[in-house]
Amino acid sequence: MFEFWYTLAGYITIEKESMAQTAPLPTLSIKSILKWALVFALLALGSIVAFGFTPRDSGLSIEQRRVTEKIDISEWRAPPTVPYRKFQREIVIKRGDTLTSLLEQLRIDDTDLKRFVLTSKEIKSTFKLKIGDAIRATVDNTGHAYNLTLLPKNSQPVRISPTTTGYAITEVPTTKKLTFGTGVVRNSLFGSFDENGIPEELAAQMAEIFSSEIDFNRDIRSGDRFTLVYSSEYLDDAFVSTGTIEAAEFTNKGETFQAFLFVAPETGEKGYYTRDGKNVKRSFLRSPLKFSRITSGFSKGRLHPVLKKWRAHKGVDYGAPTGTPIMATGKGVVKYLGRKGGYGRFIEIRHANGISTRYAHLSRYAKRLKKGSSVSQGQIIGYVGKSGLATGPHLHYEFLANGTQINPTKAVMPPGPSITKSLKGVFQTQIEKNTTLLDTLNRRYASSK
Ligand SMILES: [Zn+2]
Repeated sequence: MFEFWYTLAGYITIEKESMAQTAPLPTLSIKSILKWALVFALLALGSIVAFGFTPRDSGLSIEQRRVTEKIDISEWRAPPTVPYRKFQREIVIKRGDTLTSLLEQLRIDDTDLKRFVLTSKEIKSTFKLKIGDAIRATVDNTGHAYNLTLLPKNSQPVRISPTTTGYAITEVPTTKKLTFGTGVVRNSLFGSFDENGIPEELAAQMAEIFSSEIDFNRDIRSGDRFTLVYSSEYLDDAFVSTGTIEAAEFTNKGETFQAFLFVAPETGEKGYYTRDGKNVKRSFLRSPLKFSRITSGFSKGRLHPVLKKWRAHKGVDYGAPTGTPIMATGKGVVKYLGRKGGYGRFIEIRHANGISTRYAHLSRYAKRLKKGSSVSQGQIIGYVGKSGLATGPHLHYEFLANGTQINPTKAVMPPGPSITKSLKGVFQTQIEKNTTLLDTLNRRYASSK
């Protein structure tokens, strides 16, 4: 058996045996909600219950759920120091690595496997080594390998495993697990993700989700709190990659925002909504600067790199390092792209309803962007610089309604499209599990305070 451990509050296994990426999540019935309630009651007592259900052939209407294990999460669990008889090793492929050198690094001493790797004709076309991808082996302490698995970044794992006649190379499906994490911001958002063992890339994902409501470059305060429910891909019970945020809550300066992922059944289009189906994205973002590690964080000792100022010249100035990506704050069409006097390198975007936005002093434009290009909300259009009349690198941003500049940091932006009436039912079913989870995690947090 393999064992692995968490620095997180815990994890919940969903769809234990299923081909996670393609199988739809089973719907919840009233009966199952009661079961969940029971499970959550246990959870509230300080233990976490991991449970899986196995959608058999017919799937959706018949659903089985059983409690498979109880993991105590009330205390930090240190990694075991005694090696298991059978365990996994994983390394990242570097420049110059060959299959033979990788076998050595994985401490595999298995003559049959070595011979197969050296002589197989199909191995070059099916087991392609790429720098940065990971390779994992299930081995025992004698050096015998049970399998060798390549974990490419953007496709399914490929595995070499023994058969009765030799070895076979096959694609193996990963399993999706829902994981949750919660934390309080102390010094910076990224820092608080690190401290709580939540993958950093989710900080950027969360900032993106709430970017209409919160300016993550400016508005984050010590004491802000977040809870996330997100999917991760696992293989043989060991982590492979982080997936998507399925539900998120962020409390910023005492105000709480929630978002739930909805995947439209026919188009597959993804979006985040409040639990009553309102779009969390407004038609304009709070800030044109992409939230990044460079611009994130705050400390008492040094000045925040992003300082926004509403100036007499009717724009907002964002001081930020040269090269910081600039996003189109709303969907629209590029009306102007080029040098323009004191503005330096300049972009103007025309949006619906008589609104336009302007971005000045850029160091460069996004590749292939030109006058007439359509841009989506959040699309990178250029990078911060100090071209034109600028003493230091900053973005000068203007927001115009019918030709007149207004202060975008004060304006109330219209919301994006809500869930339509015809999709309301599907929406409620899809988010039900995650609303229950988020509520439970919050109750747990409240009672632990
Ligand atoms: Zn300015």
